[in-house]
Amino acid sequence: MSRDQATPLMQQYRDIKARHQHAILFFRMGDFFETFYEDAEVASRVLGLTLTSRNNGAAAEVPLAGVPAKAVNEYVRRLVQQGFRVAICEQVEDPKLAKGIVKREVIETITPGAAFSDDLLDGARNNFLCAVRVDGARLGVAAADLSTGEFRLVRGLRGDAGAVLGRLTPREVLVVAGDHASQETLRTLDVLLTERDAWEFDAAMASDALAQHFRVQSLEGLGIGDDDMVAVGAAGALLRYLRELQPGGVPHLARPVVERPGGTMPLDDMTRRNLELVESLRGGDAAGTLLSVLDRTQTPMGARLLRQWILAPLVERAAIDARLDAVGAWVHDATARAALRSALDGVRDVERLSGKTAAGRATPRDLRALGDSLTRLPAVHAALARVEAAGLLQSLRAGWDDAATIAASITTTLVERPPVAIGDGETIAPGVDAALDDLRAIAAGGKDAIANLQAQERARTGIGSLKVGYNRVFGYYIEISNANRHLVPDDYQRRQTLTGAERYVTPALKEFEEKVLHATERTEALERERFEQLRSGVAAEIGRLQGVSATLAQLDVLASLGDVAAREGYVRPEVSDDFALEITGGRHPVVERMMPRDQFIPNDVSLPADARMIILTGPNMAGKSTILRQIGLIALMAQMGSWVSASRARVGIADRVFTRVGASDNLVRGQSTFMVEMSETSAILHTATARSLVLLDEIGRGTSTWDGVSIAWAVSEHLHDRVGCKTVFATHYHELTQLADELVAVRNYNVAVKEAGEEILFLHRLQPGGADRSYGIEVGRLAGLPAPVIARARALLRLLEGEDLAGALAGGTSGAGAPPAKPIRAKGNTNTQLGLFAASPHPLLQQLAGIEVNEITPLEAMARLAGMVADARKIVEG
Ligand code: ADP
Ligand code: MG
Repeated sequence: MSRDQATPLMQQYRDIKARHQHAILFFRMGDFFETFYEDAEVASRVLGLTLTSRNNGAAAEVPLAGVPAKAVNEYVRRLVQQGFRVAICEQVEDPKLAKGIVKREVIETITPGAAFSDDLLDGARNNFLCAVRVDGARLGVAAADLSTGEFRLVRGLRGDAGAVLGRLTPREVLVVAGDHASQETLRTLDVLLTERDAWEFDAAMASDALAQHFRVQSLEGLGIGDDDMVAVGAAGALLRYLRELQPGGVPHLARPVVERPGGTMPLDDMTRRNLELVESLRGGDAAGTLLSVLDRTQTPMGARLLRQWILAPLVERAAIDARLDAVGAWVHDATARAALRSALDGVRDVERLSGKTAAGRATPRDLRALGDSLTRLPAVHAALARVEAAGLLQSLRAGWDDAATIAASITTTLVERPPVAIGDGETIAPGVDAALDDLRAIAAGGKDAIANLQAQERARTGIGSLKVGYNRVFGYYIEISNANRHLVPDDYQRRQTLTGAERYVTPALKEFEEKVLHATERTEALERERFEQLRSGVAAEIGRLQGVSATLAQLDVLASLGDVAAREGYVRPEVSDDFALEITGGRHPVVERMMPRDQFIPNDVSLPADARMIILTGPNMAGKSTILRQIGLIALMAQMGSWVSASRARVGIADRVFTRVGASDNLVRGQSTFMVEMSETSAILHTATARSLVLLDEIGRGTSTWDGVSIAWAVSEHLHDRVGCKTVFATHYHELTQLADELVAVRNYNVAVKEAGEEILFLHRLQPGGADRSYGIEVGRLAGLPAPVIARARALLRLLEGEDLAGALAGGTSGAGAPPAKPIRAKGNTNTQLGLFAASPHPLLQQLAGIEVNEITPLEAMARLAGMVADARKIVEG
């Protein structure tokens, strides 16, 4: 590039970059996309590109890094996955026709929250972009999935922000610039925060923008009321941002669905994680989660919807029953289920394909996939018509749309296997356009003619190896090897010299070339025209297609739930508006799948109002956590409309389900601080109501025994007396079993173990009463503690259980925490326990109790043991 052009070019660059400061600007220059200055530095670092520099013509060197235009998608994907925004600046006029600098424009900005490309999307989950607005105590969230066109307004309370966003799991969130309070609430989420000016969140302006976008007089036409305005402000900011990213517009954005408080149950982050609903505690993946057990969906939109249902359990009985009944219809009719499954087989991502079509991005192959998917609809309908129209199925059947005209227009216009790009093969089917058919005949004829020409020239020259070829630069040519050069006729004009051959043209060859190329060019143009016609015709039907997609998604999920229920022997829960929670033969839906069939021991649990708190004791590994989680999972499964893993279940609808796991049981989070545990517990005490289900697993464990028992005791009292919710508290502190004597609605249960000599057998069976011993030593033995240690521990335990010892051991350390809020009354023969509790346990015991046998290495175990043995000897031997 000459010096004269360099400056205006960089000026053009700067003008465009100024309008896209928060994105990495990919600037099209011929066959490359170039990045400059800081963008180049970032790109070279993140993408491993070579950073070079070019002379700016006038002044300093400009750092520069480029990627080939052909491979641009891959580079964009990598940047966006790292959380960057990338603005694609294209040449928007033909460089050959340009006067001066080629005109360039940003045609699209891709961000983590706003992506269309399949490599940036996960079929099984939505890719939401959210905008959050906090107004006093009120919260408004707008969420859009650009790839599917889903658009939601969620309204709630400020404190719900974590729960709402945790459910939507956006990749990017728009927040008011400088609003530190709401930004702070979002800090814990692993998302890209994009700051936008406060005025963009203005509700009045947003109302106008939304009404205009959806072509309605007022927002009432969209079902949006005055109370929803806080979310409307967020929606305004979102819409503005999306239009900025997509200068071509977002015509496929569906009319917003408004979610108001009370429609679904907010699930807080910890509950979602601890119950492993959609992500396992180990990895972030779906293996070992409720989702993995329930997901037998066959379409991507079904998979996404199932995930949404799991994360947003319902709280209205009628809505729950409508799902449960529909699931039941599929459970009861295996033939219809099989028919539906085979009909859905081959249905692709109708939702995203429609979205791409509406946005003018569907390739010929995409559009054909959409058409092929739609042709399955009659078969889907036939399966739906066979099954009893129970619950939700009724309305799905009533609103059925085969979209036959759309399907036909696609499948008759396109060839069966069109290419990704026009020109890479035939796209439009023969017979669709007469002009196109004619052109094709000419092109084909021309090609035949060239083949004839080759034969003819071979005969004329006597060169058997003569061949007619084609390349982009020289067009058609005749290639003759050097060995035959002396046979070349005079009318051959030399065009190119290769190592072993020469290439020639003849006037006749050029004439054919003209004809063929022209026809091919025209064919391509015409194909493009017809294809775009078809695509915009289908795009105009986006509303209908979104309806079809929603219907397919629901059917897929309902049948999937029916399929799991039938295979796994689930039962329809009886949901009610009263306080009930009564589970007979309950199983943990995930754990039971990890063992051979029927190996899992079912358990009964009931939490009536007058016995609404269970203190669950039992040794380590007995199955406390499993029972606790299975109660939560069964309640949530019922409320999402799934049948449940039990032989009978009565579930009173809970307004919230809370699950907390004590710090040391929560190693995976890598954040096993007592503080976290306490702040989580505190959140429950503040939020739970009498209609909540609270599941606490070893809360209080993250501190010393005294502290732990005292806190656990006080928390239980508060939940029992003040909140009145259903509570299950799993603990290895025996002391808590005494709560049953103090509080009327507390019952003790334990998970049974059987002693066989010195061995213990885990029965995994829940039974009334508190555990009388902790069996810690037996568990230690099972875990492989050396025999001398076990023997020594037994001896120490006997010593500790001797009355005279409690006092003796108390010497040295002072009490580790405040005494329990209420005096703990001794009952029956629990004197020793009380004695131990009253004194601080011996430091050696505390050390022993602190060891997580399963978590430490053998080497560490040896080291600790040696230390403890040395300490113990000092005491014992004097
Ligand atoms: P705890 O919380 O009491 O230490 P867990 O609930 O973690 O015990 O259970 C320990 C192990 O016991 C589980 O990993 C599981 O393999 C097994 N288990 C638990 N409950 C049952 C059951 N009802 N039937 C069969 N196995 C069970
Ligand atoms: Mg446990």
